Amino acid sequence: MTTLERRARRIVLLGHPVAHSLSPVFQNAAIAAAGIAAHYEAVDVTPEAFAAAFSSLRDADGAGNVTVPHKAAAYAACDMRTAVADRVGAVNTFWVEDGRIIGDNTDVEGVRAAIAALGFESLRRVRIAVLGAGGAAAAVLEAVRGEESAVRIWSRSAARGEALLARSDVPLIALTSDSGAACEGADLVVNATPIGLSGEAFPVAPDRLAPSTRVLDLAYRRVGTTPWVTACREAGLRTEDGLSMLVAQGAAAFRRWFGTEPDLDVMWEAVRQERDGSVVGGS
Ligand code: NAP
Repeated sequence: MTTLERRARRIVLLGHPVAHSLSPVFQNAAIAAAGIAAHYEAVDVTPEAFAAAFSSLRDADGAGNVTVPHKAAAYAACDMRTAVADRVGAVNTFWVEDGRIIGDNTDVEGVRAAIAALGFESLRRVRIAVLGAGGAAAAVLEAVRGEESAVRIWSRSAARGEALLARSDVPLIALTSDSGAACEGADLVVNATPIGLSGEAFPVAPDRLAPSTRVLDLAYRRVGTTPWVTACREAGLRTEDGLSMLVAQGAAAFRRWFGTEPDLDVMWEAVRQERDGSVVGGS
């Protein structure tokens, strides 16, 4: 049996809430384009119900994604994890092999692709400000691992920031409680907080950023883009929102499940068509 035949079935996205997710839209488009007999489905699972729901996928030979707020719980519940998932401490992609749930973290590939879309040919010694200290921030640190990048992290909670620092092996790293100070002299600023998913707030004012700074907002909206990306564009800065990361992490997951390359143009076309939809987004 080929990987593709073995995995031809129901693929789930476990999250809470999850109805807003764009993942079913572009994954099902790519699955259909590849002629695979599978269906990708978002399933709302509360934190209380997560452990049982996830474990039941072991017997069902399941595969899928995990999103907010379950990535750390999925990490703990997997039977085996990739080295990348171990370093990030979170799982966003899983599948079953020989009755064991394997967990991976394709958000890291998503971050790398989004940074490449901003025109960085290399991250070697790039100065980066990371706003936020949760799972997405950990994926950014993993993406720059070994690059000798200088990283400043802004975290509103000192304890969470210190926990992220403690598990990172990025050598030149510092923590600050001032988002503007974190961005001073940065080549790249990454918003890894949910600020911008809804409402009009900015993680940092665009006038605190130098004209040469490139901006990556991991948040995205189904309609248009985030207020911060809009304001940074108006200030003349080069920007990307979270859609480029979303599609790239999904493409990497598709490769894990089906052992074949998804059609990225089909994925992007499906995402663009959905831009007439509703309000907020996460993976
Ligand atoms: P997370 O683990 O909950 O971490 C969120 C971080 O943001 C925490 O450090 C949190 O601080 C901080 N934060 C939350 N609200 C804040 C506020 N109002 N002001 C300042 N800091 C705030 O979440 P995550 O999984 O890292 O996700 C973060 C963002 O990345 C979300 O917008 C998510 O949608 C996005 N994301 C996008 C993709 C994609 O494919 N585009 C993939 C993954 C994540 P506290 O600990 O103090 O609450």
